[in-house]
Amino acid sequence: MRDIIGDAMTEPTFAGRVSRWYEQHARDLPWRRPETSPWAILVSEVMLQQTPVVRVVPAWQAWLERWPTPAALAGSSPAEAIRMWGRLGYPRRAVRLHECAVAIVERHGGVVPDRLEQLLALPGVGTYTARAVAAFAYGQRHPVVDTNVRRVVCRAVAGEPDAGPTTRPADLVATEELLPAEPAAAALASAAIMELGAVVCTARSPRCEACPVESTCAWRASGRPAPAGPTRRPQRYAGTDRQVRGLLLGVLREATGPVPHQRLDQVWADDVQRARALAGLVDDGLVEPVGETSFRLIGDGPPAPVAG
Ligand code: SF4
Repeated sequence: MRDIIGDAMTEPTFAGRVSRWYEQHARDLPWRRPETSPWAILVSEVMLQQTPVVRVVPAWQAWLERWPTPAALAGSSPAEAIRMWGRLGYPRRAVRLHECAVAIVERHGGVVPDRLEQLLALPGVGTYTARAVAAFAYGQRHPVVDTNVRRVVCRAVAGEPDAGPTTRPADLVATEELLPAEPAAAALASAAIMELGAVVCTARSPRCEACPVESTCAWRASGRPAPAGPTRRPQRYAGTDRQVRGLLLGVLREATGPVPHQRLDQVWADDVQRARALAGLVDDGLVEPVGETSFRLIGDGPPAPVAG
């Protein structure tokens, strides 16, 4: 542990100060408890990618209660995964998680793999999720870089107000340089930097006075200059195809069998937009046609008769 937080004779490192802060201030989130399985950590990482913690906690608990292992989920239909996903948003994640569970069963005997390249080869598991599972489930040393981490590193090290919209290889390198050599200490530091970005070094109102790296933060030292470009506006939801897709999916989720298109027509008045949203759900593998006039969630029952 001394390697993590430095010792009394030396100046603590960046990772050491953030890790010490994390041990005192981290939120008590259920997937951070030591008994959490790698599968449960993987599920949490997928759910958290585009959904706030407060909405993920109950959904994650219900999901793990129903499907405590990859094999349990793989034995259900993708339609059930979509139903269980409920209103978490971006429901394609449910289908990908189901595909991921099937792949874990087929390729790894039902055990979430611990090697990075095997994790990266799983459906729906990208750069971030693979490294998060390797670090948080298996205690390995990998840079785990999400939006929050990129922002902290960008501000504290590079002195810039915000990172770009996507993770670049340079972000992984910059974050890795901050991690201690010892794997468990590096995994702790990764979780700590992420937490700092989520609750202290936030995008809009960083609380520098409460930050453990305030004294060395480059952005703070330069007077917190504002970003040069225009500020990003929050995405609109009302009236978008996303809203229409959500309404259509809501009807299909509640149904116990194929839904005639006349029923789906009732959810949105604009025929063109509704048709586009429905086609998008089919293209994304969430919904499938049944004959020529009905639709259902993907895999919800015996194979659908082919239209035509
Ligand atoms: S001092 Fe402020 S800007 Fe710098 S890392 Fe901490 S919260 Fe972020």
